[in-house]
Amino acid sequence: MQIVKDSSESLMVVINDILDFSKIEAGKFELEVCPFDLRKTAIDAIRTLEARAKQKGLMLNSYLADDLPKMLLGDAARLRQVLLNLLGNAVKFTDQGSVKLTVSISHQDASQVLLHFMVSDTGIGIAADKLEHIFEAFSQADNSVTRQYGGTGLGLAICSKLVDMMQGEIRVKSELGQGSQFIFTAVFALVQADAHSANPQATPLDQAH
Ligand code: ADP
Repeated sequence: MQIVKDSSESLMVVINDILDFSKIEAGKFELEVCPFDLRKTAIDAIRTLEARAKQKGLMLNSYLADDLPKMLLGDAARLRQVLLNLLGNAVKFTDQGSVKLTVSISHQDASQVLLHFMVSDTGIGIAADKLEHIFEAFSQADNSVTRQYGGTGLGLAICSKLVDMMQGEIRVKSELGQGSQFIFTAVFALVQADAHSANPQATPLDQAH
């Protein structure tokens, strides 16, 4: 039963990736603009991967800057998708050590904030000649990666397009055998004070760093 469940989940990921990618390519993809809790979104993504990281004996940590705005306007589901993809890859391609998510403010004015996200790992790293193609669709570091780790090579292409739509940039720093750092920025509108008070409850997640 576990094999059937795992296989259907993997298939679901592939189907969703293909659908998302086609929709973006067709220009039919739009981001939602709704209030969301930034800290909760980041911590939810970490929690989703906790079991997988634990199974591999990896440390999985998040460092969320103290001055992050609580509520923002944007597409929380798509931000979560980018985070899950990067964190998922980090866990997938790391056999020893740790995976870390850092979120901080890059720039802020009265109406919006530019956030800086970094997902770093101590995994297998990426060879220099593969780095420049890593955000292209169906691109994987090499065939042995597909054999060993599976995947479609669509995840980063989707991340790159979503980050583009969030008026940000994505880049990677990596060396073979030396781990990887995926860094992206994204712009979100700030929720003005009156709308903010509609969601005043501090959840226990606020204490998690
Ligand atoms: P997939 O993971 O489905 O193969 P992605 O687009 O997410 O597709 O990743 C493309 C390729 O980039 C991967 O196959 C792998 O070769 C490389 N890659 C992505 N993230 C990492 C990472 N954290 N460490 C090492 N290699 C990575």
